Amino acid sequence: MALTRVVVLGSTGSIGRATLSVIARHADRFQVVAVCAHSSVDEVAAQVIEHNVPVAVIADSEILDGVTDLPKADWRSGQSAVLDLVADENVDVVVNAIVGSAGLEATLAALGAGKRLALANKESLVAGGPLVVEAAREGGGELIPIDSEHSAILQCLAGHDPESVARLVLTASGGPFRGLERRELERVGPKDALRHPTWNMGAKITIDSATLANKALEIIEAHFLYGIDYEKIEAIVHPQSIVHSFVEFNDGSVLAQLGFPTMELPILYALSHPERIADPLLRTFDPVRSSPLTFEEIDRERFALYTIGVEAGIRGGTAPAVFNAANEAAVQAFLSGDIRFLEMPEMVAHALDTVPKRNVETVDDVMEADTAARIAAREFVCSHGSLAGG
Ligand code: MG
Repeated sequence: MALTRVVVLGSTGSIGRATLSVIARHADRFQVVAVCAHSSVDEVAAQVIEHNVPVAVIADSEILDGVTDLPKADWRSGQSAVLDLVADENVDVVVNAIVGSAGLEATLAALGAGKRLALANKESLVAGGPLVVEAAREGGGELIPIDSEHSAILQCLAGHDPESVARLVLTASGGPFRGLERRELERVGPKDALRHPTWNMGAKITIDSATLANKALEIIEAHFLYGIDYEKIEAIVHPQSIVHSFVEFNDGSVLAQLGFPTMELPILYALSHPERIADPLLRTFDPVRSSPLTFEEIDRERFALYTIGVEAGIRGGTAPAVFNAANEAAVQAFLSGDIRFLEMPEMVAHALDTVPKRNVETVDDVMEADTAARIAAREFVCSHGSLAGG
């Protein structure tokens, strides 16, 4: 069987690194033909050597200038090199693990060129949902989620008529601050927020899990991936992160996909779908050890970013792009100590109130909303940020 040729965008991040190790265990099926990162040249160089990768791309066009002693590979740089790469005829699967809305153009290019897109960059789907759906339809590309909840839904939906779906229920771990009172949330800092109870992930998504903004992003993601109305998508807290999501059908039957939390499983499934490949290194499920499984409602008041995000999804147009960009700005501002934890929802709400909603017809519509949202978010930090100006 010919090897499936895979490009990994965002190869130095948590999902990118996990993808390389999954593929290394399945070298009889998959081959990494290119790795790509924004600017981490040294890490990419190490990956080129370790995984014997023929092409390496650095998205930042200036970083490679004057760099010598790179390992032997076809080194390219710049955003256009990224877009050419994902559309290359010698590529079968594009794993998009770029962080943030910067991943949108690569998502569109891969789907437009008819590739399988294994998508970990949920922000691109949230910001440019209608464009992504259209690019897949026109280019014939296939969109397979790497997000664990959406991988679970995909697996539960297999073989079922989409019309028979009554409800999707996404699970959320609840993050490190589940159960904290509002006055306790006032005092939490970046170090507390970066300590995730069940998943080991990059900083952006870990903060999004602490605010539950991640779950709002995932509801919007599910809406576009599966074409399901918002009123049929819910999220609940499930602290053990064993049930990755539920799908309820119109006859009342509910299917779920379960497993110990590891991103390697949804990564492998996104590469092999609809097939399943044996992987002895993935931990065997044990119902007794995973017991008890508990479920709670999301506190929509304490975790206001969840509520704001879902509302932005329902408003549609550029509102999800504004939510996403303002949230990225809020995460950065929180991590750098410019705003407090509970100011993140205020900052994002300010951007949504300030930037007028428009329809999403072109990438420029998304980019303009994204820029306007970041400007509005910065204004908020200057005028309201309680830590701003000392
Ligand atoms: Mg997820």
